[in-house]
Amino acid sequence: MDRHYDYLVVGAGLYGGVFAQQAKAAGRSVLVIDRRDHIAGNVYTEDVEGIHVHRYGAHIFHTNDRRVWDYVNQFAEFNRFTNSPVANYHGELYSLPFNMYTFNRMWGVVTPEEAAAKIEEQRREAGITEPRNLEEQAISLVGTDIYEKLIKGYTEKQWGRPCTELPAFIIKRLPVRLTFDNNYFNALFQGIPVGGYTRLVERMLDGIEVKLGVDYLNARRDWDGAADRVVYTGPIDAYFGYRLGCLEYRSVRFETELLDMPNFQGNAAVNYTDRETPWTRIIEHKWFEFGKDETGRDLPKTVISREYSSEWKPGDEPYYPVNDEKNGALYTQYRALADEEKHVIFGGRLGSYKYYDMDQVIAAALDMSEKELA
Ligand code: UDP
Repeated sequence: MDRHYDYLVVGAGLYGGVFAQQAKAAGRSVLVIDRRDHIAGNVYTEDVEGIHVHRYGAHIFHTNDRRVWDYVNQFAEFNRFTNSPVANYHGELYSLPFNMYTFNRMWGVVTPEEAAAKIEEQRREAGITEPRNLEEQAISLVGTDIYEKLIKGYTEKQWGRPCTELPAFIIKRLPVRLTFDNNYFNALFQGIPVGGYTRLVERMLDGIEVKLGVDYLNARRDWDGAADRVVYTGPIDAYFGYRLGCLEYRSVRFETELLDMPNFQGNAAVNYTDRETPWTRIIEHKWFEFGKDETGRDLPKTVISREYSSEWKPGDEPYYPVNDEKNGALYTQYRALADEEKHVIFGGRLGSYKYYDMDQVIAAALDMSEKELA
């Protein structure tokens, strides 16, 4: 190493990007490294025939935190994309999140009062008072019909576990509304960065030294010698050589195709909520960005990605931490080891083993930077 830095940032995703940007702004020297051949972590987007393809899964920026919104707007302009996924259950289409369109399609109810009564009736029949797992939570929020058609199959494909063994909080991510509002998020601010996420992170890292295609864990001693302190955003269990056992993650495989048609499914996201279809959802990337020109005049082609969820095993990319009790207990043990690594800060979805959204990652990185760089 020809130089010594104040900070070595391991991982050029959002957490690492924000910290590096803040450190540079505070006059510290920073080196960012990443084992992949590109920056931006899992928010990476690449250009395919003029379409920004979300290579590691769809990312829709949404937040209620004005500080985070103002922060990201320094690096990109955001379009006014509003996420409104469609659920496909054996060819029946339902609006998401669960709202009056969904209830009307499911039960023929017309008024909010009728919908509320139907949900209440199904909840009572199921006899749930205090939901203890995802299944009970889902039924108590939307009733058994919606649980059976729109939640059970999707969730069991996505997590590879029965809904009775999953934590209730996962389903609370989705709003339930007695209005005709298809906006998937309850967020004040929402959109997709114009020009793609890669450009946003590129601008965050402007003027910062970045080395790609280098694996920190393979030559940790050398890398540690390069800086006073380390910000590590990889999997916390991998950092410790899995010495207490592997934390469980879900991995995702994408089958991406360029199609010679202007419009495949008419929406950015269609969730396949039955158990039989092997993929969880199909993303049609152009609808995140382009004006709704379904004639194909502007863009005669389209790119779609089918998502297949699987249990993570060593060598796979980890995407989702499985935040159940068992893994929570193991994480607590790793966290105790991490506290002993005085020169290392652990952060991000993998470093904190938390099902963070992008805005939560950025908020966490800003909070940490404030303390660390004070
Ligand atoms: N979910 C579902 N049906 C759907 C969409 C979501 O049952 O059509 C459940 C599922 O358990 C999923 C959770 O809601 O894991 C959270 O969904 P979200 O869209 O927030 O997941 P992400 O986009 O992070 O994969």
